[in-house]
Amino acid sequence: MDTIPLVHASLGERELAAVAEVFASGWPAGQGPRGKALEAELAERYGVGGAVALSNCGAALHLAMLALGVKPGDEVIVADYTFPAPAHAVRYVGADPVFADVRADTGTVDPQAVADLVGPRTVGIIAVDTVGLPADYAELQAIADRHGLFVVEDAACSVGATYQGREAGALAPVACLSFHGRKGATSGEGGALLTADPALAADARIRSSFGIGSIFDQAQVVGLPIPVFTEIGYNYKLSDIAAAILQVQLGRIGELLDRRSAVAARYAELLGEDELLTLPHVPEDRTHAWQSYMVTLDASVDRAGVAADLRAQGIGCGHGTWASHLQPVYEAKQSCPVSADLFERNLAIPMHAELSMAQVERVGERLRATIRTHARP
Ligand SMILES: *Cc1c(COP(=O)(O)O)cnc(C)c1O
Repeated sequence: MDTIPLVHASLGERELAAVAEVFASGWPAGQGPRGKALEAELAERYGVGGAVALSNCGAALHLAMLALGVKPGDEVIVADYTFPAPAHAVRYVGADPVFADVRADTGTVDPQAVADLVGPRTVGIIAVDTVGLPADYAELQAIADRHGLFVVEDAACSVGATYQGREAGALAPVACLSFHGRKGATSGEGGALLTADPALAADARIRSSFGIGSIFDQAQVVGLPIPVFTEIGYNYKLSDIAAAILQVQLGRIGELLDRRSAVAARYAELLGEDELLTLPHVPEDRTHAWQSYMVTLDASVDRAGVAADLRAQGIGCGHGTWASHLQPVYEAKQSCPVSADLFERNLAIPMHAELSMAQVERVGERLRATIRTHARP
């Protein structure tokens, strides 16, 4: 049986050739020539003052919290319907995540919910570009400006997306990107912090390397100046092997996104008329990066039954993403009913750049049939 995986990273010969070059160079570790070149390319592409290549997006979010001075007792408002890395990052620095409910039509954080949650301890907002769709940054920034809060964009899923003509990853003063194998551009694991503020980037960079400058740079200096540790930093560096892969992937973002967009357009044709599911909504002023494709099943459909049947037919699927406030680790006493509802009813179906149109058609046809066998009358 031809299996159709939910995700499949598009890595090939060009990425392999880039890795071979790093092997030959003798510097596979982080913050070497490849890492620096990648950071320069990111800063250029996003038109930002500082780009820091990091081991993953979770690390980028952690460093963002540190660089922004978030401390125990502070509250940070986080989008609820997401892989819960933002709330984890708030916890890493001993602060409290406050979960904001999301828009029912887009799954992105609801600006009104954010405004309602601002209190005396609030210091900032982490918005999420939900599975690739940018949030409402104009409204969020206005709320932040009114109350003197920071805004961080979790752009883990949205490489290639746009909002009001601007590139996702540059929609807030600080943005965090992921290059995990399930995202639109990947080095297996990887991430970046982008910011308009070069001082903030410098802070994140030094904390990403144990609190000391680049070891590669130090080896180039004549004489023996002994570098000093200025921070209790972490090891969040991206290896130059991964940086080389990402340089190739950055050049392919347009091509890979075109392929995912074609898949989304075909799903819309195949599933648009089905009354038992709702398709993703993309507001006029933004474009989607299609990290995932989630349909919302009608409340009469047994999602677990559908998923089990699809998987048995070789079609990958999943629950989509999480309602963060329901994760036991946070012991949250809040309620986010829209997010909880999407968490219960959404179904992620295969979405990646390696899908053939024949596979997309098979998914559409099997999904339509399967939801009918699992719908209560
Ligand atoms: C994947 C993801 C992350 C985590 O990215 P890593 O690079 O795996 O640390 C963070 N936020 C969101 C919204 C994600 O989807």
